[in-house]
Amino acid sequence: MPDADVVVVGGGIAGLVVARELVLTGREVVLLESRDRLGGQVAMHSVAGIDLDAGAEAFATRGDDIPALLDILRLTGEVVTPAADPAWLYRADGTAVPLPATSLLGIPAVPLARDVVAAIGRRAAWRAQLDALLPSLVGAKAETVGELVRRRMGAGVVDGLVAPVVRGVHSSEPDELALDRAAPGLRSALLKEGTLAQAVHAQRAKAPAGSLVASLRGGLFRLVDALEAELERFGVEVRTGTPVVEADAGGVTTAAGERVDGEVVLAAPFAVDAPRTRVRVATIAVDAPELGAPRGTGVLVARGAPDVAARALTHLTAKWGWLAEATPLQLIRLSYDEGVEVTPERAHRDAERLLGAPLPAPVDAAIVDWERVGRRADPEHAIDGMHRVGEAESGTGLAAVIRFARSTGREIPSEGSADEG
Ligand SMILES: Cc1cc2nc3c(=O)[nH]c(=O)nc-3n(C[C@H](O)[C@H](O)[C@H](O)COP(=O)(O)OP(=O)(O)OC[C@H]3O[C@@H](n4cnc5c(N)ncnc54)[C@H](O)[C@@H]3O)c2cc1C
Repeated sequence: MPDADVVVVGGGIAGLVVARELVLTGREVVLLESRDRLGGQVAMHSVAGIDLDAGAEAFATRGDDIPALLDILRLTGEVVTPAADPAWLYRADGTAVPLPATSLLGIPAVPLARDVVAAIGRRAAWRAQLDALLPSLVGAKAETVGELVRRRMGAGVVDGLVAPVVRGVHSSEPDELALDRAAPGLRSALLKEGTLAQAVHAQRAKAPAGSLVASLRGGLFRLVDALEAELERFGVEVRTGTPVVEADAGGVTTAAGERVDGEVVLAAPFAVDAPRTRVRVATIAVDAPELGAPRGTGVLVARGAPDVAARALTHLTAKWGWLAEATPLQLIRLSYDEGVEVTPERAHRDAERLLGAPLPAPVDAAIVDWERVGRRADPEHAIDGMHRVGEAESGTGLAAVIRFARSTGREIPSEGSADEG
């Protein structure tokens, strides 16, 4: 007899969501997580005594899956949107400008708007405006964000606006970021609206309450706690501190040598040949009550910007109202690529440059190392008789991860066991 109907490997958001879907079809589910906590890249840490997100801190508001899940978990009333101030761009010449107010992934909805001209110059803005004269089919078959924007709006928009946003938000480059994953619906909006600028405008108008991202009061990590409680309620056996070292269609073997039989769903990048990158996130707390929000909710850094090692800064207490209410301190988070030596001093120096203001030495700091997994080249999600979910399958970001885990959980045939529940 198998130990469970289904063994889920990995207790990140993908594993938690797929386990929930499966148990609701009446399956007996065991979830094995290597670390001593659930949540994966959605995690909590304390900085200056404040509990806040150490990994992902927001989700894209597009699509129905996250709202539906939050509703089920009774978290809808806890959803918060960030301050409306635009993020800023720190340019290669060391100056900073606000990112265009109406843009998506840095792609402007109004190419000749004053803030676009200020960011990339008049010449590049006029080239971007040519988008209005091109047939809608130009760029409509582009594979990547970079290809689409270059063809329609020119290299000035790609290098000056899109690249810093894509680097800061997706840890990627415009020419590597698949269009349909990063901006689902933008391609069809282009064909429908006729120009890329209009397509951006239409996509933005669809976002609820005008905000492209949202989070939870108290931190996004609360989603993990709610999912964990839900799995417990439904009787899923959750085992943390249990790395899986081997898996096949009939079950898995843990590092302790235990065999757990059952149908296997891999929700971890286990034996997956996908590109991996390391990112480091430094969060500093400074006592600077007069700081205000000099650069809105944060700053994205253009490649080649002088004297700054970070690729993005988030001014957490300017971005999230609940956090500003929770502490008189300023909380500032900086993201770094692999290979940069990150120290609290480095983060402090970068924060001063990017915010354009002197800051007192941090009263506390935390540095977290993350490994991120790119998308697997082979899009076959069930190989060797095992199902796969998680960011290597669906693409990075909670909207994609949750949507894919929900639909996969529902599609796995229940082999008659659904009747028992
Ligand atoms: C710093 C940072 C900021 C981010 N910001 C955002 C954001 O603002 N918005 C957004 O949408 N996304 C963001 N993301 C991305 C998002 O967090 C991820 O795409 C998503 O959480 C991935 O979920 P997952 O379940 O696929 O993978 P993971 O969260 O990586 O979970 C995989 C789990 O499997 C476990 N595991 C691995 N190997 C084994 C094994 N052999 N046996 C058992 N268990 C194993 C791991 O310990 C882990 O818990 C961010 C990521 C990082 C690192």
